[in-house]
Amino acid sequence: MSKWKNWKGIFVFFMVATLVVLCLADGAGSSPRMLSYPEFWQMAETGEIQSVRMGDGENWHAVLSDGQMALTPNPRALDGKERLLAMNVQVTEQQESAVPPLVFMGLMLGIFFIMMRSRSKGASMGLQKYAAVQADERVPEITFNDVAVAGETLQSMRDLVDFLQKPDHFSRYGARVPKGVMLYGPPGTGKTLLAKALAGEAKAPFFAMSGADFVQVYVGVGASRIRELFKKARKAGGGVIFIDEIDAIGKKRDNGNDEREQTLNALLTEMSGFSDSSGIIVLAATNRLDTLDAALLREGRFDRRIEVGLPDLEERLKILQVHARKKPLAPHLSLEDTARQTTLFSGAQLETLLNEAAIRAARRGGEHIEEQDLKNAFCAVTVGEERPRIMTEQEKRITAYHEAGHALITRLMIPEAKITRVTIIPSSRGAAGYSMSIQPDKMLHTRKELMAMICAALAGRAAEEMIFGPDQVTSGAAGDWKKAREIALAMADEFGMGETGDKEKDQRQILVKAMEMAKECLLHHRELLDQLAGQLLIRETLEEEDIQALIA
Ligand code: ADP
Ligand code: MG
Ligand code: ZN
Repeated sequence: MSKWKNWKGIFVFFMVATLVVLCLADGAGSSPRMLSYPEFWQMAETGEIQSVRMGDGENWHAVLSDGQMALTPNPRALDGKERLLAMNVQVTEQQESAVPPLVFMGLMLGIFFIMMRSRSKGASMGLQKYAAVQADERVPEITFNDVAVAGETLQSMRDLVDFLQKPDHFSRYGARVPKGVMLYGPPGTGKTLLAKALAGEAKAPFFAMSGADFVQVYVGVGASRIRELFKKARKAGGGVIFIDEIDAIGKKRDNGNDEREQTLNALLTEMSGFSDSSGIIVLAATNRLDTLDAALLREGRFDRRIEVGLPDLEERLKILQVHARKKPLAPHLSLEDTARQTTLFSGAQLETLLNEAAIRAARRGGEHIEEQDLKNAFCAVTVGEERPRIMTEQEKRITAYHEAGHALITRLMIPEAKITRVTIIPSSRGAAGYSMSIQPDKMLHTRKELMAMICAALAGRAAEEMIFGPDQVTSGAAGDWKKAREIALAMADEFGMGETGDKEKDQRQILVKAMEMAKECLLHHRELLDQLAGQLLIRETLEEEDIQALIA
């Protein structure tokens, strides 16, 4: 179906081309004069018409005595020919428009089939040319200096620089160099920028294309562009191949979009085709990791994933500083305040904010960008089309207590768990959150441990209720409830840990009990909870060491 659609596109194109050619041919050079029917007869009578060609088309075609072409409406009356002949005008009859289109159609069909055949053999010459159109293959000028991202993200990118610069070094040790790296995260967080900066930093050529480029044109072009891209990188002796917005070609396969599938297959084939020491790294970026075809994320493909999340306070400040470099900020102006007011802004939105402020300063003709410019820009940006979501102070407070609740209960009731991070900035995996890891080698859990896990899951909601009252609780805890319910159900059902033997009743009892325990524990450690939440409000993100220091 979709395959046909592409060919239909080509077909329609040629049909239109045929018509255009026909129309031009019709005019035979100069455009013919249009005569009204009475005018025509008048001229015929005065001998100004040399010959007339009649058909069943819309017009009669006349050649005037001075050699000029003229048209007149076909009256579709029977006696015209006779009258003209009587006036000594040459008359020919022709089923016009019947013959030439047939010839053209034949030609077009021929081309159509040739293209179709060559497609199955690989890309035709025409497609090759198309594929060669463009790929930005210079070494980009930007480096990691121009990007402000989380420390761990930057570290992962630095590793890639080493791989690019010394591919032989790693392969000599038998180390497997990453072939494919997937950057994922919300729009405007600097994924494209990072990919470019990686090439710039490693002084490697950059071969970039966007997934959207691949899907618009004819079947086979996407695949051929991919092959072309890899060919160029090999010729250059390595570099960064970047496929932006890979979701456009890498979506989970629905019932066969042929073009996308071919492009995807070409990509996978190329990726398995180059060796570790080739000095090629393939980078891709997506806003939606969850929609990608599993084949893309498998071992040996895009098996290294780097999250590029929304910036937290510290990162926002860095981004603002990067973009303020070439702007005349008033000396007293504090970007920290701006960073503080821009929770949930992406890097792109921060850049827009500063730019808007600069525009306002320029309009004023002021010497510096002043605080008022920033304030005005802030208003403009937050009512605009792609406006950042504003997190109100109350929302921030609720989120902070929610996450602090999780972290505190986890720390107190599951001491062997490692809390790696707590944040009030939502990640691409879902809500704001805390990430913890429990040693995976544990197979059996005691009833007490299972209860503790339910408590930790419910602790976010418990803290919200405790601090803000039951009316203020938010909808942000759906995932928490799901997890708690699953554990409770397993306890009641599989592990026989319920009291009544009625599965549902037991599950409910367990949940109620866990909620009570969580609240009690939080109440008991209210001071710690306040401290944690307070720190989260100030810093937005707490790392493992910070948490350890706070909850000794
Ligand atoms: P993405 O590809 O993630 O959608 P982009 O890389 O296209 O985001 O970012 C758009 C612009 O926003 C960049 O060109 C840059 O000016 C700014 N920007 C976004 N993130 C950052 C960042 N982390 N550091 C510096 N600038 C950023
Ligand atoms: Mg991008
Ligand atoms: Zn939660």
